Amino acid sequence: MIKTIASQRKFFSTNGTKSITFRIEQLRKLKRVLKENEHLLDEAIYSDFKKSSFENFTTELSLVYHDIDEAIKKLPRWSKKKRVKTNLINFSARSYIIPEPLGNILIIGAWNFPYLTSLSPVIAAMASGNTIILKPSELSSHSSKAMYKIIAENFDQNYIAVVEGGIIETTLLLEQKFDKIFFTGSVEVGKIIYKAASKHLTPITLELGGKSPAFVTDKCDLKMSVKRLIWAKFLNAGQACTAPDYVLVHQSVKKKFLELAKKEIEGSEYSIEHGNYVQIINENHTQRLINLLNGKNIYHGGQYNRLERFIEPTIVEDITFEDDLMKEEIFGPILPVIEYDKLEDIIKKVKARPKPLACYVYTNNAGIKNKILKEISFGGGAINDSNMHVTNTNIPFGGVGESGIGSYHGEFGFRSFTHYKGIVDKPTWFELNIKYSPYSLKKLKWIKRIIGQK
Ligand code: NAD
Repeated sequence: MIKTIASQRKFFSTNGTKSITFRIEQLRKLKRVLKENEHLLDEAIYSDFKKSSFENFTTELSLVYHDIDEAIKKLPRWSKKKRVKTNLINFSARSYIIPEPLGNILIIGAWNFPYLTSLSPVIAAMASGNTIILKPSELSSHSSKAMYKIIAENFDQNYIAVVEGGIIETTLLLEQKFDKIFFTGSVEVGKIIYKAASKHLTPITLELGGKSPAFVTDKCDLKMSVKRLIWAKFLNAGQACTAPDYVLVHQSVKKKFLELAKKEIEGSEYSIEHGNYVQIINENHTQRLINLLNGKNIYHGGQYNRLERFIEPTIVEDITFEDDLMKEEIFGPILPVIEYDKLEDIIKKVKARPKPLACYVYTNNAGIKNKILKEISFGGGAINDSNMHVTNTNIPFGGVGESGIGSYHGEFGFRSFTHYKGIVDKPTWFELNIKYSPYSLKKLKWIKRIIGQK
């Protein structure tokens, strides 16, 4: 591992990763080898937590392929030197910004979308012209192995290498010097990464989680809202960083909301018997979620199979902000429902909590929408939908406050692995001598006039 980091550093210093042709060739190759090995990726993720090839494609690989296509198409523009205006005091110079790759990158992935959280930042780092060490999550060990195999068989380790392992291996990696660390995972581990990075003053992106609320207001298309919200909550058995963690329902529509939600779950494939419902990733998380159901007022669901690591899509009602379900990110198929009366009051309660990664507002009322958008700080989100903002790479994806630092997707991803070098490029045929000594009032007057500070 240490040897690979050293050889990647050496390779980067040869400028081998910097040409646009190289970057595009490698991205093309990545898409080809992923496509060729799609069956392997499908089998691996199914072994990890019974995720179907349908969902592997719709929620992981299709987004990865899109990222590659977009980077290939747009990176010549993204990486172009950009001319900018020159200020008067630098007259005769030309000014420009040169995007340059940061260098040697460490990417640490999460297990819940093992391919997306690993490969999406890898693609952005490749597009920006860096070398990469990828450390996928050990909890999705089959997916991790599949990525290791595909990368090791097709890429020069001096350019991209996958290092498998858990805490021990990650800790060892974190002791080394990188030019950027990109981490996806929990808030708790995010703090460990931040601390380790500070030792070398390494810049970081932290893509973390948190408790993302969904507002179901009295002025919404309730049927459509429930359809979209239930899909988003129980997709991946709730193991999604952007999943609506809890619902805030206006009291006037609560009864109907619950009825429709139950009906929606019953008509879906999210059941223990059905083959398209994913498992909880491991025994610990299964037990953690079962414990959360203890003594709760379960409106729907609540059944589980500990051995099979399945938990039924479950709706819990009569929840308050003081409940233990509201203490940590649920990250599983349990939906707490909190009733509210006044929007003003419920906004205050949400604002008193850490800034969430996402927030969703189900409403047809512009006043309600704008009030929530203006008053609550959160990473990103959607109106009358949940999760789907992740698929639009024209907007940044990332957290704020405790839900993360930095963002990526599309050009935002390219930027997160790029340094923008600002240059004032001055010819020697002209010099404005007023900054040199001997100083005089006359010169000062000219300086003030030129910089607009009369
Ligand atoms: P995690 O923090 O437990 O693990 C993430 C990575 O950190 C893994 O690769 C793991 O090996 C490593 N790690 C774990 N403990 C470590 C330690 N003590 N020292 C060093 N490295 C360590 O997170 P997870 O369980 O894989 O993922 C779930 C969390 O990730 C949730 O909070 C979820 O919201 C968040 N998440 C965020 C995004 C996003 O894009 N914002 C995406 C997916 C998941």
